[in-house]
Amino acid sequence: MAAPAGSIRPQRVYPSSRMIPSATPVRDQFARPLGSLRLSVTDRCNMRCSYCMPETEYTWLPRASLLTFEELTRVTRIFASLGVRKVRLTGGEPLLRHGLPVLVRELAAVAGVDEIALTTNGLLLRRSAGELRDAGLDRVTVSLDTLRPERALVFSRTANHADTIDGVRAAREAGFAGVKLNTVVIRGFNDDELIDLLEFSREHGAETRFIEYMDVGGATRWSMDDVVSRERMLAIIESRYGRVDALHDGGPAPAERYRLPDGLSFGIIASTTAPFCRSCDRSRLTAAGTWLLCLYADDGVDLREPLRGNATDDEIAGLIRSRWQQRTDRGAEARLGIPDRGVLYQVESLRADPRREMHTRGG
Ligand code: SAM
Ligand code: SF4
Ligand code: SF4
Repeated sequence: MAAPAGSIRPQRVYPSSRMIPSATPVRDQFARPLGSLRLSVTDRCNMRCSYCMPETEYTWLPRASLLTFEELTRVTRIFASLGVRKVRLTGGEPLLRHGLPVLVRELAAVAGVDEIALTTNGLLLRRSAGELRDAGLDRVTVSLDTLRPERALVFSRTANHADTIDGVRAAREAGFAGVKLNTVVIRGFNDDELIDLLEFSREHGAETRFIEYMDVGGATRWSMDDVVSRERMLAIIESRYGRVDALHDGGPAPAERYRLPDGLSFGIIASTTAPFCRSCDRSRLTAAGTWLLCLYADDGVDLREPLRGNATDDEIAGLIRSRWQQRTDRGAEARLGIPDRGVLYQVESLRADPRREMHTRGG
C-alpha cells in the first residue's frame, strides 16, 4: 500500500534471511488464504469491558512467556512468507506494551506486509499516536461503546472516558486517515446511542463499525437476549435517517458497509447472526506465542517453543503451512447451530486456560 503524502513510513526491505514473501498464499480446506494475522502483544488491560473482562480476578500469562519484539518480528516475517499481508496489533490493551512504536517500526520493514493496524481502547493513544504514525503504523481502530462517561464507568470500569475521546482526536491529528470506531452494541446498554455515535463519527472524520455482541471466551455474561442484530440496528438507523444503502464493496473484511442518504458511511459486523467464516483469512497469535486458527478454537499451535528452540525459519514455516492447510474452522457458524446457546466457556475453564480469553487471544 502506498504511504500517504507526508508520511515518513520506513521502506520495506527484504531481510537477509531466505524468507521471501509468497506470491500465492497458503490455503486451508475451504480455499481460504492465510491473509491476515492478529498479534496480541499483551493480555493486560486498563479497562474491564463487561462483554470481554467482566470478572474481578484473572489468570495472567507469565511475563517471561511473552514473545519479545525480535520473536514477534521473526514470526511475522515467516507468516509473510506464507501469504500474510495484513497485521493487526491488539490485546489486551496493546498500548500497555512498553515501546510499541519500536515493534511497529520493525514490522513495517517486513517484506510482504502491506498494512499494519492497531485496535485500542484509546486511553493512552494521545501520548503515542504521532510516534506510532512515524514508525509506520497505517491504521487505527478505537473501541468506543458509549459517549456517556457515566456509562463507561459502569460498563467498562474506566473513569477516563475523556481520554478515549481525546485518543480519537489524537489519531486524526497524527495524520491517520480513515480512523475506525468499534462499537459493540448491547441491548439496554448502548442501543439508544447509535445515532449519537454516527454523528460523533461524522464530526471526527471517522467511520463507525457496529459489532454484534459475540459469545467469545471471556464473555461470561453473554446472552442471546442481549444481542442486537444487524437487522435491528439498521431499523434503528433507518428510522432516523431514511433508507440506508448497502455498499457491497467485497473483500474478506467482515464489516458490511452502508451509506446514509446524506453520504455518511458506517459498517456493521454481524458476527453473531450472520458470521463471515466462509471468507475468513485471519488467525491470531497470543502474546505468549500460541497460534489460533479461529477466534472460537479450543486450542492452538505453540510457536513459542520452536521460536525459542533450535527450529529454523523454514521448519516453523513448514509447521504453519501444514496446520493452515488442514484448517476447517468455522467457529461462529458452528455456534449458530446450537440450540439454547449459552456462554462459550464457564469462568473455571477460562481460569484453567487463559488462552481462551478474548483479551488473551486478541479481538
Ligand atoms: N483493548 C483493545 C480494544 O478494546 O480495542 C483491543 C483488544 S479488544 C479484545 C478488541 C476488540 O474486541 C474490541 O473492539 C472489542 O470491542 C471487541 N470485543 C471484545 N469482546 C467482544 C464481544 N464479546 N463481542 C464483540 N466484540 C468484542
Ligand atoms: Fe475492553 Fe479491549 Fe480491555 Fe477487552 S481488551 S476489556 S475490549 S478494552
Ligand atoms: Fe474466522 Fe473463526 Fe471468526 Fe469464523 S469464527 S470468522 S472462522 S475467526
